[in-house]
Amino acid sequence: MMNPSLNLMDLEELTSNAKQIQEDVLEEILTLNANTEYLHRFLHGSSDKVLFKKNVPVVTYDDVKPYIERVANGEPSDVISGGPITMFLRSTGTSGGKQKVFPVNDKYIEKLGYVIALRSLAMSKHFDSGGEQGKAMEFHCTKPPSETPSGLPRDEVVRVGAAFAFVLVRAIDFLEKHWKELCSNIRSGHVSEWITDLEGRNAVSTILRGPDPILADVIEQECSHKSWEGIITRLWPKAKYIDCIITGQMAQYIPMLEFYSNKLPIVSTTYGSSESTFGMNMDPLCKPQDTSYTCAPNISYFEFLPVDHKGDMASIVDLVDVKLGCYYEPVVTNYFGLHRYLIGDILQVTGFYNNTPQFRFVHRKNVVLSVRSEITTEEDILKALNHVGLVLESSDLMLMGFTCYADISTFPGHYVFYWELKAKDVQDVFELEEKVMVKCCSLLEESFDEVYRKNRSKDECIGPLEIRVVQQGTFDSLMEYFISQGGSIAQYKTPICINSSEALAVLENKVLARFFSEKSPPLDS
Ligand code: AMP
Repeated sequence: MMNPSLNLMDLEELTSNAKQIQEDVLEEILTLNANTEYLHRFLHGSSDKVLFKKNVPVVTYDDVKPYIERVANGEPSDVISGGPITMFLRSTGTSGGKQKVFPVNDKYIEKLGYVIALRSLAMSKHFDSGGEQGKAMEFHCTKPPSETPSGLPRDEVVRVGAAFAFVLVRAIDFLEKHWKELCSNIRSGHVSEWITDLEGRNAVSTILRGPDPILADVIEQECSHKSWEGIITRLWPKAKYIDCIITGQMAQYIPMLEFYSNKLPIVSTTYGSSESTFGMNMDPLCKPQDTSYTCAPNISYFEFLPVDHKGDMASIVDLVDVKLGCYYEPVVTNYFGLHRYLIGDILQVTGFYNNTPQFRFVHRKNVVLSVRSEITTEEDILKALNHVGLVLESSDLMLMGFTCYADISTFPGHYVFYWELKAKDVQDVFELEEKVMVKCCSLLEESFDEVYRKNRSKDECIGPLEIRVVQQGTFDSLMEYFISQGGSIAQYKTPICINSSEALAVLENKVLARFFSEKSPPLDS
């Protein structure tokens, strides 16, 4: 998939000529797709770019779904795409929407390969020897992880990663539960019988190549420590960095990964979606919280709708015309049949790499909590959780999973958070201290905005915030519920806010204790 001829000059050229490259991409897409049934409705066979901007509407998934479904059901690709559709990608729908299916073809793989090659270039600027001379330990969930325990080649791994931070945390958690069995398998050279996936068994057996009591002893020694602090660096001592997406809703896993890795750099290399790969991080060693993604202008045609557009679709701008500091929703036109499609993410412009804008991922558009007039976004929720980090840390607790919803079934409505907690020291059974939990409720409320606090304190139209602590394993059950609805575990992201009653029922069945904020949050003076 790598493009071997790519070098740093290509990167400079790509980012210096963003305007022209975007023009060319649009021209190519329109020439390819002008006669599709979808585009013909608006352009009548023309591939004129001005007409495209004037006539083709900005759409959401529901607008294009019938066309996509027709192709998925066997009608020819040219209902939506000039080129052949050879594959459909399914989004999980857990990043704040519903499940969606998107058409692609081999060009998608080609473009993805290009971005991966660019990403490697960006990394090689920052890590000696590209950080790649050695092996990578990547966790890919293609089946339920309980079926895919991995071998541990200790001295060669220079990078530990997964697509999303969540998968990595889950892999460590899985190892924590199963390391004894893993060591016994390595010692005997035999994979446990309950692992029935044949390909998984064969792959592990090929790595094992028979009994390895020395490796089993080494792993056992590290895993039997009371604390799993630094377990990643202890198991893979040559690991230089962690490679996984850590922005957006994945930011909640920063403290956990820092704990498990003794604060190795966490590198969030790419931002993309089933609709289009978007860009890569040109400053991989920055703090996870400061990550920005530089748009790759040759992947798709990108436009940007200002967040405060107030219905004025004419305010949409081209990639190179976005303004520093402003907030936008990306609108993508790709090679496979999406034209002026709203992705549903909110991004902020943080700078420019040559002439190409860089963006910070802010939040998913529809992920908000609201009881009254307040709007609490995904970003607000993650910030609030950051606030309670210190309290949890001083109580030796880790937040393994959370989600929330606005309960408006009673008056006044209130925010409910579901938390799965775990003791930092693996062998400790944690006890919930009422005082600590109530403090967490208050801290969350204090960090919400003035509108929330006013509604809560003065007008009393929002009730005390509640934390419901759930049993360990609850967020695994939640994931299993979502995966059972279709979608891939590799793309799964625990929803920040839940609105499906079935998903709420999964959580409600596992509630151990409830805590409420005891005092109203202060107002700004
Ligand atoms: P999916 O189409 O299921 O793969 O989900 C794509 C969505 O995941 C994007 O629209 C974003 O909301 C989220 N996502 C992907 N990459 C990142 C990233 N680097 N940072 C934050 N969110 C991301």
